Amino acid sequence: MHNVKPISDPTLPVEQVTVMFESQYNDEMEAEVMRLEAQKRASDVGHPEWENACRVCGCRINGTRVATCTKCAEGS
Ligand SMILES: [Zn+2]
Repeated sequence: MHNVKPISDPTLPVEQVTVMFESQYNDEMEAEVMRLEAQKRASDVGHPEWENACRVCGCRINGTRVATCTKCAEGS
C-alpha cells in the first residue's frame, strides 16, 4: 500500500480507541443476546423465572453462557 497513513497521523489514536470501544460494545451486545436466549429457553420449558435452561433436557442452568447442562454437553 502506498497511501498508508504515517504513524504520526494524529487521527490514528482516535481510530484505535474507536475500535476498542466498538469491540467492548459488541461483547456487551453478545452477552445481552446470550442472556435473552437463555431466558427464552427457560420460558420454553415452562420456567420463565429461571435465568437459563438446558436446550436438550430442559433442566435448570445457573448462568447464561451455555445452552446445555454439563450432562448434555458431555453427550454431544
Ligand atoms: Zn441437559
